[in-house]
Amino acid sequence: MNDFSTRDIVKKYGFKFTKSLGQNFLIDDSVLIDIVEGAEVGKEDFIIEIGPGVGTLTRELLKRAKRVCAIELDSDLLPILQEELKEFDNFEIVHKDALKVDFKELIGEETSVKVVANLPYYVTTPIIAKLLNEGYNFKSLTIMIQKEVGERIAAKPNTSDYGALSILVQYYCDTKVIRRVSPSSFIPQPKVDSIVVKLDKLQQPRVNVKDEKFYFKVCREAFNMRRKTLWNATKNLGVDSELMKQAFEMADIDPKRRGETLSLQEFGNLANSIYDLAHK
Ligand code: SAM
Repeated sequence: MNDFSTRDIVKKYGFKFTKSLGQNFLIDDSVLIDIVEGAEVGKEDFIIEIGPGVGTLTRELLKRAKRVCAIELDSDLLPILQEELKEFDNFEIVHKDALKVDFKELIGEETSVKVVANLPYYVTTPIIAKLLNEGYNFKSLTIMIQKEVGERIAAKPNTSDYGALSILVQYYCDTKVIRRVSPSSFIPQPKVDSIVVKLDKLQQPRVNVKDEKFYFKVCREAFNMRRKTLWNATKNLGVDSELMKQAFEMADIDPKRRGETLSLQEFGNLANSIYDLAHK
């Protein structure tokens, strides 16, 4: 499928991998196909790719999308991308740390926006948190991540993987596993197994909450001390204990339970009860 292979491009330019930038480039065509097909990239889509590397996935996106904007931090990759993808007039590169990009500015007037990326693993969670928390109008995020992070994203209550990341992603998105990917699909090979997931943004968040920031704060506190009861874990919220007692009653949640047993909705009920009582 690829007109040029990743290995050939790396060799042609004598590119040296930087481990600290999470540079594991895809060499498996079947994975590329599954990512672009899984992302359902079409002619109306504006695609944001984080970390294009030497442009292997970018090329497939460019063939199918209206426009592709790739955000790359490594300056050594810019001339390679410019040369290898010069036949495309629907391509632009932003030379920046993805964690510092103003996505609102990047998106502009575009209405069909999809993120597609083989993410640098050292910043997976902060990137997902930024993309979801800052309220951009993405339709979906189709991303390659470490398998364990994928398991945390999809985890249900009462499991060891269930935590603040599960709540954050499930609050905003439906999640779907596209496929698993073994280390042999990359050069150099990562030490971990990977997974491609599609996060479809919901029209409305899954839970109706009074104050999103406060909701996530309650969840974080509950998981920061996951071995403790909710009663003890929520002490760090700094809310009066009489008010907390009432809030647990109002939300119909036993304060002796642990945070990891609560569904997203139950966390919502608790956070909303505290909020209502505190704003009476
Ligand atoms: N998309 C390519 C592929 O699939 O072969 C490369 C993926 S590689 C896992 C991650 C890419 O992200 C590298 O090109 C790396 O230089 C880039 N990168 C690392 N940290 C970044 C950051 N903070 N912002 C933007 N790009 C970053």
